[in-house]
Amino acid sequence: MKSIIFATSNEGKMDEVREILKDLDLNLMSLKDANISIDIDENGKSFEENAIIKARTVCEKTGQIVLADDSGLEVDYLDKAPGIYSARFLGEDTPYSIKNQYIIDQLKNVSFNERSARFVCAIACAFPKGEVITREGVLEGYIADKISGSHGFGYDPIFYVPEYDCTTAEMPNIKNKISHRARALQAMKEVLEKIIATN
Ligand code: IMP
Repeated sequence: MKSIIFATSNEGKMDEVREILKDLDLNLMSLKDANISIDIDENGKSFEENAIIKARTVCEKTGQIVLADDSGLEVDYLDKAPGIYSARFLGEDTPYSIKNQYIIDQLKNVSFNERSARFVCAIACAFPKGEVITREGVLEGYIADKISGSHGFGYDPIFYVPEYDCTTAEMPNIKNKISHRARALQAMKEVLEKIIATN
């Protein structure tokens, strides 16, 4: 079976990626599985640039094909913050209960229509010869007025999806079918299938 590194140390994200790509004949390794310890300076100006930086850096270090994503939450009322700073927002180690409550407080008394937001995910696949392929996926929704749900990770408890009338932290069996990450990975599948078919 072919092995590919998925350059993340976020286990919540890794679980989702494994679930979304489970029908592929592919061994997906996190940075931890591959025993790689690396501090990557995510200094890109977009999700796509950051995904490319992560995938390229690990590809150059290992000489292997590497997938990486960069994702985050854009809140329209907050000028698309936290955006590419989603993980670092209010401090990398600040619990999401605090980050989520802060966003809710910022949107106090803001009408439903003005609470629009989206999760965005860019995925990059870097090849040892230097080629990089990228794909993007988006999930549109609204910022809820309270924290709800215990599944998922990060901003899931405040991300409300009207079609399902719940947050992404309340849809354990659905999120991986409709999420920004699922959509970006789905779009990347043909690239991965080619990798699997190549000796
Ligand atoms: P990254 O690991 O640099 O891509 O940072 C992604 C950050 O965006 C995470 O730490 C979360 O704060 C947020 N994020 C991305 N995807 C999701 C999701 O599916 N649910 C909740 N938060 C997410």
